[in-house]
Amino acid sequence: MSTTRRELGALTLAQLQGVLVDLGQPAYRASQIREHAWQRGARSFQQMGTLPSSLRHQLGAELSFQSLEVTGETSTDRGLTVKLLLRGADGEEVEAVLIRHPGGATARPRNTVCVSSQVGCAIGCLFCATGQLGLRRNLTAAEIVDQVRIAGQIWSVTDWGSPTNVVFMGMGEPLHNYEAVVESIRLLQDWGLSPRHVVVSTSGLVPEIDRLAAEKLPIRLAISLHAADDPLRDQLVPLNRRYPLAQLKEAALRFSATTGRRVSLEYVLIAGVNDRPQDALALRRLAASMRAHVNLIPMNPIPNSELIAPPQRVCREFAVAVGPRASIRFSRGERATAACGQLRASMAALPRRTALAADAHRQLVGAELTTNSPTD
Ligand code: SF4
Repeated sequence: MSTTRRELGALTLAQLQGVLVDLGQPAYRASQIREHAWQRGARSFQQMGTLPSSLRHQLGAELSFQSLEVTGETSTDRGLTVKLLLRGADGEEVEAVLIRHPGGATARPRNTVCVSSQVGCAIGCLFCATGQLGLRRNLTAAEIVDQVRIAGQIWSVTDWGSPTNVVFMGMGEPLHNYEAVVESIRLLQDWGLSPRHVVVSTSGLVPEIDRLAAEKLPIRLAISLHAADDPLRDQLVPLNRRYPLAQLKEAALRFSATTGRRVSLEYVLIAGVNDRPQDALALRRLAASMRAHVNLIPMNPIPNSELIAPPQRVCREFAVAVGPRASIRFSRGERATAACGQLRASMAALPRRTALAADAHRQLVGAELTTNSPTD
């Protein structure tokens, strides 16, 4: 028995086979374990009924089944959207959102998991509840994979099947936790979820965008834009002062050219801030120059902020002015998976998280991004 148990979610199939062989078991048991833990939604080794009882006990002694514990669950949109509060071994909590897209005449059903990559975030975007926390810590690759596995457990009691899509649009800036995020994408591929169905959202860490392109993963990139001119974006997304729009645009184009995957733009609409006709015109030009689709997300209110969404009429007029590349996300599930920073605000906040955010904001306000940036 190991002194420190390895996380099941962080093991590739080959590594799991190695663990089983070391335990004197046939390697094929690894595939059975994977099937229980992914397709069948087992919540412990004990629930893996096709395994011998002695092996289940051996596995429990050797491996940690899961790195996160579900401590809260809320459901909206008639059960199609589920928000989870998840606690790590150190007591820190993150959120994940599960969105069932029923599909239609032209689209297949999808089970999308919006995952967090960090506890809090160092970027400090003006409209974001997570940014108010500051950065508390990075998640491990196992903690990211386990958000998807837990989603599978919840969906396993429906006839909807396993997770099909993952979007990194929860808490945190994914490219600020680069190694763990890339490792988690590779692990998810090993568990059976194609990188083609993964979207990574970034506020604009240009060196990491180039690094990600070089990984040759066929993922999609989403840029949290929110303003199409530098003076405004400097205020909304402070990272823009380091990597202004011209640099960000070039990096996004390089990503597209290298991976062959399109880049999309996310734009949270904030009343009286970035919803003017000239903002729509600037966004239209930028999106056209990048051949990018634009997701417009009416601002979800956050604690300690007076920022609100424009009226629906203004949102629709803005979309028309941006042109056919733009679409608006109105439902809560759509908003959660349309822009990082909108997850926490888009769901009914659990009271103790709101209190924690407010408290953390008081303690951390004024902390500089440069303290935490991986690019320093
Ligand atoms: S919007 Fe995204 S990058 Fe900005 S502070 Fe929030 S989580 Fe971080």
